[in-house]
Amino acid sequence: MLTWHSASLWLVITTLAMAATGSKVLSENVDCGGGSVVGGETCQVPPDQARYDHYRIYNVQFDTEEQIKLFQKLEDESDSLTFIGHAREIGQKLSILVAAHRVADFADLLKTYNIQHRVLTYNFQDKIDSNLREVLPDSIDPSKLDWQHFFHLKTIYAWLDQTAEKYSDRLTVLDMGSSTQNNRILGIKLATNPNNKAIFIEAGIHAREWISPATATYIINELLTSQDAGVQKLARDYNWFVFPSVNPDGYKYTFEHDRMWRKNRQLFGTSRGVDLNRNYPDHWNSTGSSSDPTRYDYAGPSAGSEVETQRLIEFIRSHAKKEQIKTYIALHSYSQMLMFPYGHTKDRVYNYDDLQEFGKKATAAIKAESGRDYVSGSLYETIYPAGGGSMDWAHAELEIPIAYTFELRGPPDSQDLFILPAVQIQPTASEAFTAIRTIVEAAAEKGYYK
Ligand SMILES: [Zn+2]
Repeated sequence: MLTWHSASLWLVITTLAMAATGSKVLSENVDCGGGSVVGGETCQVPPDQARYDHYRIYNVQFDTEEQIKLFQKLEDESDSLTFIGHAREIGQKLSILVAAHRVADFADLLKTYNIQHRVLTYNFQDKIDSNLREVLPDSIDPSKLDWQHFFHLKTIYAWLDQTAEKYSDRLTVLDMGSSTQNNRILGIKLATNPNNKAIFIEAGIHAREWISPATATYIINELLTSQDAGVQKLARDYNWFVFPSVNPDGYKYTFEHDRMWRKNRQLFGTSRGVDLNRNYPDHWNSTGSSSDPTRYDYAGPSAGSEVETQRLIEFIRSHAKKEQIKTYIALHSYSQMLMFPYGHTKDRVYNYDDLQEFGKKATAAIKAESGRDYVSGSLYETIYPAGGGSMDWAHAELEIPIAYTFELRGPPDSQDLFILPAVQIQPTASEAFTAIRTIVEAAAEKGYYK
């Protein structure tokens, strides 16, 4: 809570800031929602931040076709229910974030249609509040970056610069160009031998999946500092491209305005954002995406329409052959899955058996390390059908043979959804790196990097 003194001070600062930006200062005695009236003239202006007080997470299970149809209709009708996936098949379990004002009629609907369910979380804002306390301020020195907190884009980028200076013999910062809102899309190249085959890691395409950029920085750090001979060999025998935030506008927005934002920030009339992992020019908008800009999985107005998509495509196209990129890893959360192409069809890729085998080895390695259960399979079979994803595009168009999309912690019935507590960053990132290492070593044995 703010004290009266600091509240007054904040009011002064806010008022000055608003005057400076030309925003309208609220008129006298306005009730600005939970703010304190100061001096009877105006009130403390709350930040423009989405809140999820008393939002509940339900996990429902579908036992009949009627229930599936009902929930498909429900998703179409309501923007107060955030579906994590779509209702598709009997036996499926689905998590739904229910807005506070819909809790009563949602509970009534479950009862009326006799739908099996559990309430996973009663007040989602509590999760967000504790998560935001785990963010270090963007004014810290980048050398303070660790894997016990979450970090602003600014800190991550400053850390990349600082780390590249420290390891200037091996590490360079790369710039894909700017995003829709003019943020840089920065990454690193770690190279000890120009003849090495390369591994590309894409993180943060979905803004709210904070564990993804955190895992990317963890991997960079491990490759540079690990005392493990196997990791040192990986750093020596392969060149690595790692981009921690390929959706920087969205990532910033989750810190400043809405922790649950997923898409980029492109404007479409009254709403914003394209799901960048539905925007790639490979079976674009064919399945598992929406043509409606208000939806979380909006595929965009056309294939490859988004600046961020184009930046990544241009980068991979110009580097794939020259740098011999043979592996593409996309980091997401949550659900604990290691998935390979395709996402758009249940047809099998030519090297399905190999990818299945490497995936199984990787899930076994995670189990041995942390005891966590991950499942492996093609994306279509494992999570849900989805066209226009970066992994399918990289595998099909650029013929990158080893391609995976990881869904990191938590489990499919997570109480936190994308709001993974910071205490889990280190173990999650470590098991993800173990999975990558296992896949790369297994693929090497099969001759994929010859
Ligand atoms: Zn994702």
